[in-house]
This record gives sequence, C-alpha cells and structure tokens, in this order.
Amino acid sequence: MSDAGQWFAEPPIRGWQQRFQVRERLFVGDSPYQHVEVLDTVPFGRMLTLDGAAQTTEADEHVYHEMLVHVPLFQHPTPRRVLIIGGGDGGTLRRVLQHPVALAVNVEIDELVVRAAREHLPGISAGAFDDPRAQVIIGDGAHFLQETELRFDVILVDSTDPVGAAKALFSADFFRSARRALAPGGLYAMQSGSPLLQSAELAEVARALASVFPSVRTYLASIPAYPGVLWSFTLAARDGALELPPQAELERRLAASGIQTGYYTPEVHRAAFALPAFVAALVRGEPRVAGHPLPGR
Ligand code: SAM
Repeated sequence: MSDAGQWFAEPPIRGWQQRFQVRERLFVGDSPYQHVEVLDTVPFGRMLTLDGAAQTTEADEHVYHEMLVHVPLFQHPTPRRVLIIGGGDGGTLRRVLQHPVALAVNVEIDELVVRAAREHLPGISAGAFDDPRAQVIIGDGAHFLQETELRFDVILVDSTDPVGAAKALFSADFFRSARRALAPGGLYAMQSGSPLLQSAELAEVARALASVFPSVRTYLASIPAYPGVLWSFTLAARDGALELPPQAELERRLAASGIQTGYYTPEVHRAAFALPAFVAALVRGEPRVAGHPLPGR
C-alpha cells in the first residue's frame, strides 16, 4: 500500500524491491481483478499501479508504448486493422492511432483501470479512447480472440505479468488463437518481461511462441520505472521470416507518418533486436545461461 507523502514499495520480486517517494495518492480502488492505484510520485510523476506493481508513469510511458507499438507498426508495410489486448491506460491505443490505421480494437478486462486512467492519467491516452477509429471493449482478450471473426494486421498484447487474468495471455493456446486472427503478413507483439528478473517467463514465452509462429524475435528497451530497467518485447510473424526493414525504409515510413517520438528511432528499431549474449541464450532455451548478471536466474 502507498502512504501519501512518504514511500510506496512494490512487492519484492526475487529479492529485488523498488520504492518510490510519493507526493499524493490520487486514486485507490478494487475491481474483481486487481487493486488499482494512481500515485503522484517524485521521480516519475503520476503512476498507475496494479496489485502494487508499477504499470506506467507519466515520465517514461512513452518508452514502453513507443517500443510496443512503433516497432511492429513500422515493421509492417501497411498496418490498417490493429487489435490491442490489455492496455487499459490507453497509452498503446494512443500510439496506434498516430498511424494511419482504419481500426484499433482495444480489449481490456478491467473497466476500473480505464476509468482511473481517464480521470487521473489523461495525458497517457490523450483522447485516444474517443477517437472514431477506436473500439474499446471491456472483456477478456483470450475470449475475444476465440470468438472474433475479424482479421488484424497487427495484434499487440499490453498485459500485466502472467498471473491472474493475464496468465491466459501467455499460453500456446492463446498464441494459436492470435495467429488465427492475423491477416496474411500479420504481426504479433507482446511485452515479455524482465530478462533479468523474469528469465524463466521470457524463455517460456519465446519457446511457446516459436511452437506457433514461424519466426519469433525478442527486442529490448530501457524502461526506468521497471525493476532492473532492461525490458523485453517479443515480435512474431504469421508467415515467413522476420527480416528487419532497411534503415532507409524505416526512415521513410517514420517521416511519412509524421509521428514525433521521444525514444523510438529507425536506428533504435534495428538495434533493439541486437541481444546481449545472455538474453540470446535465454530465448534459445539454453538451460544454463552463462553471463546472466543476476546469478542463479
Ligand atoms: N501499459 C502499461 C505499461 O506501460 O506496461 C501496463 C499494462 S496495462 C495497465 C495491463 C492491462 O492488462 C491491465 O489493465 C489489465 O487489466 C489488463 N489485462 C490483464 N489480463 C487481461 C485479459 N485476459 N484480457 C484483457 N485485459 C487484460
């Protein structure tokens, strides 16, 4: 729990715990899925927490959302129909709508997250929920994918860590239903956790995705508010091999979009897939990963 004007501590993860100095507790609520808070913190400004874990902050949300969205949407030559699962704060939806998409469907299981974010973190969604191209559905993303007849060019999973309602979003069954819902040439991307503190989860995501998709690649970004800062995303192609577009082509696509970014660049797009040796070993499924900075991970 947070104490307004004092310190908020996240739950420890494998002996690692983060604390943030708090100016004010702006929102506290409980939904059938999780405990929801919005805090005004000294280092990161306003922060959404779910079950005590930092989810997104005013100061660094652009890093996570630009890398979850712009890498797949500039990787795909013509993304027109995009599905977002999770992302109740609206940051992913906002970045998707910066692209010339025709439709962005956002399936979020917890309406309390949307309500708290719209009221206390309006700068993250910045009006995205009211964009005529957006369809916001309150529901389980796994169920939506099993039922939908729609076909998407890109599917983005912006979920909490693989516990509770989000656990289903990390299974091979879910990945199979996602691949079925992709149009030819479609791409799937998800946040896949900390290579430092969630090594087993990342390795399992890579293994399970590779059992469903013909080509899977992990990429990285540095997200200050997350434990260990280094964070992973995983991109998968419905058909064929995932070749990164040439630098010049990525530059053309970014220029044509007119999108202003604070973290993503065509150079970062390509460099994000250059993995440190221990991460490459992790996603190859090597049991003993030499060089992991946290022994015993
Ligand atoms: N976008 C933030 C970030 O920068 O990391 C955090 C992710 S967002 C707040 C995670 C969302 O996934 C939560 O709002 C949670 O309710 C939602 N979620 C978890 N399981 C889900 C499911 N099965 N279907 C739809 N949404 C789900």
